Order: sequence, then structure tokens, then C-alpha cells
Amino acid sequence: TYTLGPKISNWNQERKIWLDRNPDFPNYVNGKARILLVTGSPPNPCDNAIGDHYLLKAIKNKIDYCRIHGIEIVYNMAHLDKELAGYWAKLPLIRRLMLSHPEVEWIWWMDSDALFTDMVFEIPHSKYDNYNLVVHGYPDLMFNQKSWIALNTGSFLFRNCQWSLDLLDAWAPMGPKGSIRDEAGKILTANLKGRPAFEADDQSALIYLLISKKDEWMDKVFLENSYYLHGYWAGLVDRYEEMIEKYHPGFGDERWPFVTHFVGCKPCGSYGDYPVEKCLSSMERAFNFADNQVLKLYGFGHKSLLSPKIKRVRNDTDTPLESVDQYDIRRPVLGST
Ligand code: UDP
Ligand code: MN
Repeated sequence: TYTLGPKISNWNQERKIWLDRNPDFPNYVNGKARILLVTGSPPNPCDNAIGDHYLLKAIKNKIDYCRIHGIEIVYNMAHLDKELAGYWAKLPLIRRLMLSHPEVEWIWWMDSDALFTDMVFEIPHSKYDNYNLVVHGYPDLMFNQKSWIALNTGSFLFRNCQWSLDLLDAWAPMGPKGSIRDEAGKILTANLKGRPAFEADDQSALIYLLISKKDEWMDKVFLENSYYLHGYWAGLVDRYEEMIEKYHPGFGDERWPFVTHFVGCKPCGSYGDYPVEKCLSSMERAFNFADNQVLKLYGFGHKSLLSPKIKRVRNDTDTPLESVDQYDIRRPVLGST
């Protein structure tokens, strides 16, 4: 049967020994866990040039967020395992990165079509001290409704530990492309509410695993829904102006979504669930909504959420240091709601 690689069963001990021997590569720096954000896209060009342009915008958006928050970033375009091409490619990649970067405490997977839209919000890490997988989801949709959208695998965090290697091993078997993936898709469709008939995908497979082996896994899984670790774009992109009027970055929830994920849009591929024009204009809005938060530090902003053009938002000054702290978005907004 299919495996992700040689079975590893003593990773916690091995990693601890390595960390003890390599004090220059600590997994916690100033009390903060070292995080590696991982994203990627297929090895070949998109079907349309515009798709590649939006992949570029999406990686710029992630670089901005990661620079501001001291998170390292990997962009992968290789298929490490031929069998696990497509959306399954994240599994062997996450495993490889855990093993090659013992200094990293959390691996954070983010889809190429997910954008950070709250540049201030930070993951509340202490909340997850006793957990190894953090994923956006709803317990009721999982365990009562068995919905195929009970959680979303477009943005999730894995702790670098034995438990995570074991979960990846348990998650992967439905992935090999061809008859295994096709047959597994039938099982998933038969068992998950709302799932259309198609080959096994990583999200459905994870939901099915966690439902059917709840006692084995769920005590280390945090289903997060108090902020948008993943936020479904359709309910968000049309409300950005309203958010700008009423709120400010830093909430991460429906007031100012942390992540806007373009589920069902395939600007890099040939078909999706939504009209391409609707997807592209919505992605443009999300990108500029986020980019305004970055450009503000430099005194600029987009002319509108649909425009790549920018304008000055304040006058240049000969005493720049007087206001440098005020505009640095890493500082909390004081005194406002
Ligand atoms: N992906 C990748 N290599 C591939 C195909 C997909 O790295 O060959 C990544 C990419 O980041 C994408 C994610 O896997 O966003 C999920 O794949 P899916 O086909 O579901 O694409 P999406 O619906 O997110 O566009
Ligand atoms: Mn996606």
C-alpha cells in the first residue's frame, strides 16, 4: 500500500536531541514559536496569463504578511511525489519540510488562492499549546451533519511532531491518483453530506478520517472558527467598504477577515464553479484591500479597491521619524473600537 516515506516513529525524541545540539536554531525565539508558511502552485504555467498574474499577487500578499510578522515562507512548484499531484501535493511537502526543518515548530499551509486580508491580526498561538493541528471548521458540521465543508484545508497549521507525521500517514492513502483516488472519491461522496461525485480530495479525506476515527485524533485537533483562518470569499469581498467604514484591521473575524479564500475559483486552470470575471475582480478587491494596509506605512493607498493605481494618502514631510511609529501597522491601534 501507499506510504509517504519510510515509517518514522521516534520523531519527538530525535527532534529534541537535534534542538538540544543546535541552540543556534531554536524552535522558540523570544517566546514565539518559529513558523514556516508554505504555499505553492503547479509546476507549469497557468492556462491563462492572467492566472499567473494573480499567483504573483497572491505570493506578494503572503510575503508582505510574513515579513511584517516574522514568519518564514516557502513557495513550492515541484511535485515531490508523482502519485500525490494536485491538491494532494501539500501532504508530502509538509512532511518533507517538517523533517528538513526540525527548528520549525509550526508548518502553516496556505493555498495559492487564499489571501491575507487582515495584515495586523496574529494567530493566537497560546490557545493552541495543547494542540497539533489547527484548521478552520465547525464541530456541528463535522460530527452532526457530516458535511463535506465542515472544515477547510486551504489554511491550516501542523505542529512539527510525531503526531503530525502519524496524521499525515493516516490521511494520505486516498491520495494516489488513478483508480485509488477515484474509488476513494465514491466512499467520500457516499459518506459526506453535500459532496458532489468526484475523485478523492484532501479536504474530504481529512473530514472523513476525523469523523470515523474521532477518538483517536480529535483531542489534538483545534477546529477554529472564532476568526477567519479561512474565510469564504463570496460572503466577504462585497463588504470590504462597509468594513473600512466601521472597523479597522486587527479583528480577523467578520469585521475584518484574516484570510479571504477563493474557493471554487480557478483563475490558473480552465474551469471553476464561478464566472472567471467575478473571481478576478473579487481577487483584485481582496488584494487591494490588503495592499492598502501595507501601502499606508509609506503614505500611499489604492485609488479604489478595483484599481492597481495608487495615490498619496498623506503629505510627504521633512521629519519622517515623527510619524513612523504611528503608521507602522505592527503597532496596535490604540483607543479605537
Ligand atoms: N497546488 C500546488 N500544486 C499543484 C496543485 C495545487 O501547490 O499542482 C496547491 C495550490 O496552492 C492550490 C492548493 O494546492 O491553491 C489547492 O489545490 P486546488 O486544486 O484545490 O486549488 P484551489 O481550489 O485552491 O485553486
Ligand atoms: Mn483554494
